[in-house]
Amino acid sequence: MIQATRVGIGFDVHRLVRGRPLMLGGLQIESPLGLEGHSDGDVLLHAVTDAMLGACGESDIGDFFPSNDPQWKGAASETFLAKALAKVGKAGLVLNNVDTILIAERPHLGAWKEAIRSNLAGLLGLPLDRVCVKAKTNEGLGPVGKGEAIEAHAVVLLKPRKKSKVVAKKTKPKAKKRS
Ligand code: MG
Repeated sequence: MIQATRVGIGFDVHRLVRGRPLMLGGLQIESPLGLEGHSDGDVLLHAVTDAMLGACGESDIGDFFPSNDPQWKGAASETFLAKALAKVGKAGLVLNNVDTILIAERPHLGAWKEAIRSNLAGLLGLPLDRVCVKAKTNEGLGPVGKGEAIEAHAVVLLKPRKKSKVVAKKTKPKAKKRS
């Protein structure tokens, strides 16, 4: 059991290709291009999953869900997130908050970020004010700026789960009789 506050960081990037649905934060986004990947390619859920694994001292998403393992082919990344969340619970921790950044030149994600945030909060079982999804462009720079890929960054804070309170009567220790 971990009895300290833990922070974790996650990053991921996937290539945009034709003929794939675009999944971000477990939500399907309207787009002619989707993210390539062995799973559904949900770059945001992968970054959050990695951040949670890192925070509880585990390895990374690639070790737990290898891209050469047929059982994860086409898998919904919600599965990875749920398994990482289970590891958090097993370590005696709970999620405090999650902060994320999506970087995409296309499609423009500004109109989608609140819906993605809401969906991600639901998947994590957190109230909305503990989850943030920021959407940025890459100012036309590099592969992300050219619209060839989407990048995600995530930071999570985990804290020890509160023990259930046991109401115990306070009794004064009896004074020892002097012999
Ligand atoms: Mg990935």
